[in-house]
Amino acid sequence: MVVKGAFQRAVDPITGNEDPRGEHAKLALVAQYTDNPVIIADRDGRIEWVNAAFTRVTEYGLDEVRGRRPGDFLQGPGTDPRTVAEIGACLRAGKGFRRQILNYSKSGRQYMLELDVQPVRGDSGEIDGFIAIERDVTESGELLKLALESARQAVWHWNASTHQVVLSGHFLPLFGYDAQAAAAIDPTMLSITHPGDRPDLEHWYESLQNGTTDQGEIEYRIAAADGQWHSILSRGRAVKDSKAHAPRRLIGIHHDITARKAAEDQIRRMAFFDTLTGLPNRTLFIDRLTQSVSLARRNHSQLGVLFLDLDNFKNVNDGLGHEAGDRLLVAVATRVTSALRAESVLARLGGDEFVLLLPDLHEAEEAAVTARRILETLSESPVSEFTVTASIGIALFPNDGEDPLTLIKNADTAMYAAKDSGRNGFRFFTHAMNDTVMGTLRLETRLRQAIREGAFTLLYQPKVEARTGTIVGMEALIRWTDAELGPVPPSEFVPVAERHGLIRALGDWVLKAACAQNVAWQKAGLPGLPVAVNVSALDFDDPELPARIRRALDETGLEARYLEIELTESALMKDAERTTALLHEIKNLGVSIAIDDFGTGYSSLAYLGTFPIDRLKIDRSFVRDLPSVNSAAEITRAIIGIAKRLSLSVVAEGVETEDHAKFLQDEQCDDLQGYLSSRPLPADAFEHMVREKTARQD
Ligand code: C2E
Ligand code: MG
Ligand code: MG
Repeated sequence: MVVKGAFQRAVDPITGNEDPRGEHAKLALVAQYTDNPVIIADRDGRIEWVNAAFTRVTEYGLDEVRGRRPGDFLQGPGTDPRTVAEIGACLRAGKGFRRQILNYSKSGRQYMLELDVQPVRGDSGEIDGFIAIERDVTESGELLKLALESARQAVWHWNASTHQVVLSGHFLPLFGYDAQAAAAIDPTMLSITHPGDRPDLEHWYESLQNGTTDQGEIEYRIAAADGQWHSILSRGRAVKDSKAHAPRRLIGIHHDITARKAAEDQIRRMAFFDTLTGLPNRTLFIDRLTQSVSLARRNHSQLGVLFLDLDNFKNVNDGLGHEAGDRLLVAVATRVTSALRAESVLARLGGDEFVLLLPDLHEAEEAAVTARRILETLSESPVSEFTVTASIGIALFPNDGEDPLTLIKNADTAMYAAKDSGRNGFRFFTHAMNDTVMGTLRLETRLRQAIREGAFTLLYQPKVEARTGTIVGMEALIRWTDAELGPVPPSEFVPVAERHGLIRALGDWVLKAACAQNVAWQKAGLPGLPVAVNVSALDFDDPELPARIRRALDETGLEARYLEIELTESALMKDAERTTALLHEIKNLGVSIAIDDFGTGYSSLAYLGTFPIDRLKIDRSFVRDLPSVNSAAEITRAIIGIAKRLSLSVVAEGVETEDHAKFLQDEQCDDLQGYLSSRPLPADAFEHMVREKTARQD
C-alpha cells in the first residue's frame, strides 16, 4: 500500500523537491526498502540520511544520527584501527572504497560489515557528499556457525592493536551459559579455565602473541555452567605482516573434545584396569611397581609387594557359579581397598589373585601390619554373604628382589608358604624376616592385652644425696612379665608401644600408678620423697601431656612437688620453641623436670639455658667409665659444670662402684642413682628400705 501510494507522489520524499514523474521517489524507495543499510553523507562525511535497514542493524534512528560522522559512534574496541585509518585516507582523497569492518550497534552488539562507499560529485566535479551502502556479513557466517556449533567448535580472533579477543557467540552457550552469563566471561575463557591449566593456557596465548610460536595447540579444561569440567582443544595461528616479528592477529578454533577424551579414557581403562573390579590390572601394576622400585632405589628406601590369594575360592566358583564368584571378587576388592592407605596400589592379576604395592616402607613390620589388617577386615563380617579368608605372601625390595617381576614371583612363593601353614595368614619370603617381624607382632599383640589389663608393675630406684647417702627421691621404672613371653625389658616394649600408638595408654598408666603409690606411702607415714617418671619422646609430642599429668595428680591427690618427669634430650631438641612452651605448662603445674641420659643427645646449649628445667641426669655410659677413662671423666666434669652454671641440680645414673661415687662426690655431683645404693625395687621392698634407713638415721 505504502509503496503504491508513494509512487504516485509528485514530491521527492527526501529532498521535498518537485518530482512529477516520481522517478526520484522510486529511487528513494529502493534505498528505503533495501535490506542493506544505506547512508547518505555530506562532503564532510556527516550523515544526512539513513534508511530503515540502517536503523534495523544499528538500532539508531535517523534523528539520532543526522549530522554525525558514522565513525564516531559505530566503531568500538574491536574495530581494527588500520581499517579505520584506511577509510579516512580514502575519504580525504575523494576515492571510493570497499572494506570489511567490525561495527557496534547502539546496544553494543558486534556485527561485521562490508562497507561500499562512493563519493558523489556535483556538476563541477567537486565532491558533494558520499553514499555508503553496507552489507551485514555477520549473517553470512550463519552456515559456518551452524557447522561449527554442531562440531562443538568455535572460531576466535585476537586483534594485536586492541588486544581484544572475539569468540564466536555460539560457543559458551554450548556449555550451558545463557547470554548474560556468557557476556560476563572473558573471551579468552581464562576465568572459567581449570586453575591447574590456567598458567599453561596463559603461556600459550603469550607465546603466540609475542611471536615466539606461529601456530600451536593446547588442551585444557573449562567449567561448564553446571560446574562440570569439559576438555577443550584450542588451535591458533599467528597472522603476520611480512617482516614483523609480532603478529597482527591470531586466529584459531576451540574444540570441545570432552566426548573424545571420555572415549580415550574408556579405552585406557580397558587396557589398564580390570573390568570386573575396576582395580588396576597386571600391566598397570607392573608399571607402578617399576616406578616405585626406581624411586626406592634412588631414595634407598624399602617397599613391599603383597600377593593375596583367597582361600577356597574354587568352592564358591564351582559350587555356586561364576556370577556368585564375580560378586565375591568385587566385594573383596572393595573390602581390601577400605583397609589400605591412599598411596598403596591394589591390583587384580586374574582369578582370585590380587597384588598390593606398599611404596616407601619404613620397616618390614609395616607390611606385616597391613597384611594382618587385610585379613582382619576380610574376617570382620561376611563378604558378599561368604566367610572369606585369604593367604598373603610378602616380598620386600631390595631384600627379596630388585625388579618388579622377581618381587611379584617371590611374594607369590611366600603366599604358598602361608597356604601351607594353614591359610588365613601371611608369610614373608625371607625366613629370618618371618622370625623377627612375627616376634614384634606377637609382642605388640601381647602388649595390647597387657595395657588393657594393666598387667605392669613399677620398680622404684632410690636417688641418694652424694655427700650423705640420704634418700632424696626415686625413679619409677616399668616392668612387664608376660604370661607367654616371660619378662620383657622396657627397652624392648617401649619402642613397640611407641610405634603402634600404645604409648599414651602406657604413659598414663605409669603416671597414675607412680602418683598413687607415692600418696599411699605418704599416708603410711613415709617421709615425702619425689618420684621421677619417664616420659617417652612421643608423649612429649602430645600437646595434651600437661593436661594428662594434671589429671594423674588430681585423680590420685598427689601434690605436684612430689612429681618429677624425665625427658630425654632428643625429645626436647626437636622443636625448641614448642618445647619451651610445653615445659612452661608442665612447670606451671608445680612439677619438676629432669633431662635424662644427658650427654647422649645433641643439646643446644643456647636453648638449655632458656628451658625451665630443674635437673640434668648424667648418662650411665659416662659414669660406667669413671674415673679411669679420661674422656668420660672430662665429660662428667663438664656436665656438672654446665649444671652449676645454669643453677640446675645434677644427678648421676648407673653408679655401681665406690670409685664412681668417689669421683662424683669430689666433683660436687649432687645426687647419685645406681646399683651401688640399690637396684630398682618392688614397692614393698623400697618401702622397707626407706623405713630402715630412716630408722637408722634417727
Ligand atoms: P632410664 O630412664 O635411663 O632408666 C635407667 C635405667 O638404668 C633403668 O633401666 C635402670 O634399671 C638402669 N639402672 C639403674 N641403675 C643402674 C646401674 O647401676 N647399672 C646399670 N647397668 N643399670 C642401671 P630399665 O629399667 O631397664 O629402663 C630402661 C629405659 O627404659 C629407661 O632408661 C627409660 O628410658 C625406659 N623406661 C623405663 N621405665 C619407663 C616408663 O615407665 N616409661 C617410659 N616411657 N620409659 C621407661
Ligand atoms: Mg629415666
Ligand atoms: Mg637414663
